[in-house]
Amino acid sequence: MQPDVSTDFLIIGAGFAGCVIGERLAAAGWKCVVVDRREHVGGNAYDETDAAGVLVHRYGPHYFRTNSPRVVDYLSRFTEWHAVDYTIKSFTRGRYWSFPVNLNTFEEYLGRSSSPEEFAGWLGRLRVPVNDPQNSEEIILAQVGREFYELFFENYTLKQWRRHPRDLDASVCGRIPLRTNRDDRYLAENFQALPKHGFAAMFGRMLEASPGLELHLGVDFQEARKRWPCRHLIYTGALDEYFAYRYGPLPYRSLRFEAESFSAEQLVGRRAVAGKSGYWQPVMQVNFPDMEVPYTRIVEMKHATGQTVDATTIIREYPKDWQRGGEPYYPVPAPDARVAYRRYATLAETEPNVSFVGRLATYRYYNMDQVIGMALAEAEKLILRYGSQSSRNIV
Ligand code: FAD
Ligand code: UDP
Repeated sequence: MQPDVSTDFLIIGAGFAGCVIGERLAAAGWKCVVVDRREHVGGNAYDETDAAGVLVHRYGPHYFRTNSPRVVDYLSRFTEWHAVDYTIKSFTRGRYWSFPVNLNTFEEYLGRSSSPEEFAGWLGRLRVPVNDPQNSEEIILAQVGREFYELFFENYTLKQWRRHPRDLDASVCGRIPLRTNRDDRYLAENFQALPKHGFAAMFGRMLEASPGLELHLGVDFQEARKRWPCRHLIYTGALDEYFAYRYGPLPYRSLRFEAESFSAEQLVGRRAVAGKSGYWQPVMQVNFPDMEVPYTRIVEMKHATGQTVDATTIIREYPKDWQRGGEPYYPVPAPDARVAYRRYATLAETEPNVSFVGRLATYRYYNMDQVIGMALAEAEKLILRYGSQSSRNIV
């Protein structure tokens, strides 16, 4: 450590980006201080057992999935896994629909049985020909045609983003798979599982494995940079906030979560809807495209965790505009937002000895595995630059 610094690395944010980099650098022998303004680790992936005894995800459902064996191998050092086929439904026109769109959805639409061939033929006639979809409207029209676009995507997207799908990148709605068979899993990645004892437990083991890492919760960046002068700063918060909103705030979308718990007795009347006792709804997530419904989805995480507990908890998600001081849950994937982000990214490139890592600092609509991959790559770069324990004096 240099005499004028109190830690080698100061890491702002104890979400996936901050904890993964911290764990890697501490394992290489460096002294790391990780801070978070929240009172817990895990960032938005944080989970906890609520007053009803149900394991819930405090900041919206976090379905771990990836095609990266490297990311799975890395996390498997800190957790075992509970395999889950994430299954959801959409609720509109007064009924539940299989979602994402698959052969079952088509049969529900027709009101009779069908075949992959008939469905493919139907799609072939309804699809709008677009060679290179440029936005979320074009990509869905090109995949399923106008009928299903209007039924499942247009209003849901307007509600979630307060933007029309044509004003969002194709990758936003393009995340949702389309299948002509009966595979109704929400996600397409090879590996789909939750940490067996939850995300918070996994983060706990990650930090336990890092004795050279000091964690301070309830501490903001401004205070941290004064308390711990460092050799290198790793910043995983919002990029515009780092620069004190010099060019104005970037656009974000925020959410309000509303939880409601039910005892076993209260759930008796829901058995017909849920299809089994002890649950409130038939699957872990139900999406609500209708504009009259103020929330976008209801999540009942017990379906996914497989937790055996009599009670259950559902969480309704209400999209809302972001304002300074609020939680910037989603960067907005759209051309105008990208232009605004580029100005900040140019400033970031000129910051000496600072790495900007994670979903908010790079303003990307990234899933957990993508952020973990980014953090592993940045840790490798830093170890190459500063060396590891055996070569600590090499700067
Ligand atoms: P974060 O998790 O946001 O962590 C950043 C941390 O930095 C926070 O704890 C914050 O408090 C702290 N911080 C920020 N600024 C400061 C500051 N100035 N001072 C101190 N601390 C600060 N991904 C999936 O793979 N599957 C899913 O199903 C999924 N569902 C999601 C649902 C929702 C509603 C949301 C919002 C995201 C979802 N994600 C999902 C994405 C996932 O949350 C992110 O990819 C991941 O958590 C990003 O990790 P991160 O460390 O970059 O950021
Ligand atoms: N989407 C939609 N209808 C749905 C589900 C998703 O139109 O029933 C669109 C919507 O724009 C949403 C995007 O697809 O923001 C990505 O959905 P996902 O469920 O992956 O969003 P996240 O879990 O990241 O909020």
